[in-house]
Amino acid sequence: MEVLITADRIQARVEELATEIVCAYDGKPVTVVGILTGCLVFTADLIRRINLPLRVAFITASSYRGETVVPGRLEIRDELLPDITGRHILLLDDILDTGKTLTRVVAHLIDRGAASVKVGVLLRKIGRQEVPFEPDFVGFTIPDKFVVGYGLDFNDEYRHLPFVGVLLSGE
Ligand code: 5GP
Ligand code: MG
Repeated sequence: MEVLITADRIQARVEELATEIVCAYDGKPVTVVGILTGCLVFTADLIRRINLPLRVAFITASSYRGETVVPGRLEIRDELLPDITGRHILLLDDILDTGKTLTRVVAHLIDRGAASVKVGVLLRKIGRQEVPFEPDFVGFTIPDKFVVGYGLDFNDEYRHLPFVGVLLSGE
């Protein structure tokens, strides 16, 4: 495993993001919506630093990248989502890659009656975006490498690592 972003750097950046978010919402109540499961660690760390009236909810978005299913299809599940009508949403995900997931989920939340949707991602991959999409809060931009840790998985492993790393072949 090659460490790309250390735990200390992540914690320092999450602190800065929290400050940016508090300024942007200027005292307005916010509903944080995390995209499971990758958002888990980022969401837990970030919300504890956001000093605003705040609710937390989750949504699931799974893209099928396997060989047997249609590539690029995305299934959004929102059974866990409370009524968000008129609420200001801060949508959180682990990583912005092609942009398809976030584009679709933002549209879904607007459809469900959100008053506004801002988007925060821990990571943004350079050179991978396929649809135009500008997140409001970005932790780090990273090169086009497959990363794990701090919520990000490979086959559901490695999410618990406190840093972001790149798997070396053979691991
Ligand atoms: P997008 O729809 O932007 O292409 O994909 C976003 C999703 O793809 C992320 O939420 C994440 O689940 C997955 N993903 C994209 N790049 C990586 C990566 O480098 N590592 C891991 N573990 N997941 C990734
Ligand atoms: Mg994801």
